[in-house]
Amino acid sequence: MKYNASALLSVLLACATLTACTPNPYASTNKAHHKQVKAFAKQLRVTPALTPGEEQLKQGDYWVGTTNFSMRRPNFVVIHHTAQNSTEQTLNTFTQPSTQVSAHYVIGRDGKVYHMLNDNLRAWHGGAARWGNDTDLNSSSIGIELDNNGAEPFSEAQTASLLQVLDMLKKTYNIPTANFIGHSDIAPTRKNDPNHTFPWKKLAEHGYGLWYDEGILEKYLQPAAPIVISDSTGTAPAIILQPQDTVSTIPFIFNPKEALRIIGFDTRDLPAAIRAFKLHFVQDEVNDVLTEKDKVILYNLYQKYM
Ligand SMILES: [Zn+2]
Repeated sequence: MKYNASALLSVLLACATLTACTPNPYASTNKAHHKQVKAFAKQLRVTPALTPGEEQLKQGDYWVGTTNFSMRRPNFVVIHHTAQNSTEQTLNTFTQPSTQVSAHYVIGRDGKVYHMLNDNLRAWHGGAARWGNDTDLNSSSIGIELDNNGAEPFSEAQTASLLQVLDMLKKTYNIPTANFIGHSDIAPTRKNDPNHTFPWKKLAEHGYGLWYDEGILEKYLQPAAPIVISDSTGTAPAIILQPQDTVSTIPFIFNPKEALRIIGFDTRDLPAAIRAFKLHFVQDEVNDVLTEKDKVILYNLYQKYM
């Protein structure tokens, strides 16, 4: 048998660089993956592919397929934490058909990246979700799962790899800066990932997601005016109380619910939307109460999203 020397060399090189040729424990589920991809490819080859109900339409005289098209492109990135204890556990979960969950990318605590699904296909990571008027985030987004037990900080290696993946996605698909969001943003009544330690500010500094302006709190927050209690007879000295609170000087007509809705949050459950907003943009005291500080942050972001 004669070998093609250059082909053999490239196989050896691929082994050395990609997998070190260790046996892949996911060989059988990879086979199932390829089978499904093939089935979708077969669907795409059917022409004309009728949308259900289309056969009832008054049809043109013949089928004409356009020559000008491409694959669909994702326009959002949704970031998650896995709430599991290891990457291996997540890879296993995402290869069991019974779980019905998946993501395009899984990033380990060690920074290793597993690209589990072609970006042009639809992963099942968002569930029932809404952002603005988009009610099918699975169709419009890339899902990234970060291996994290749900309460711990995200490691430097993991964040570094995440930034690389985001850079790649933003460049490839021209994803708008504001469209890098978290699972809790799109499903505020059900989800709290990524957890409150997630470095959203750092991401925004690199161009992934929005953040409020530096100095905005100093600009709009000031100590509440002192309360003066004076004796009506004018004989006793006035008592001056200095409240601990601060007040904001944002416009009186500012409507926080409207602002949350403009940013994208589903405000049908307002307390849940406030919690999701605080988890992402405030990160301390994640509850459903908007303090004066929270309102200033919200007001600033609302203007960016307008
Ligand atoms: Zn999630």
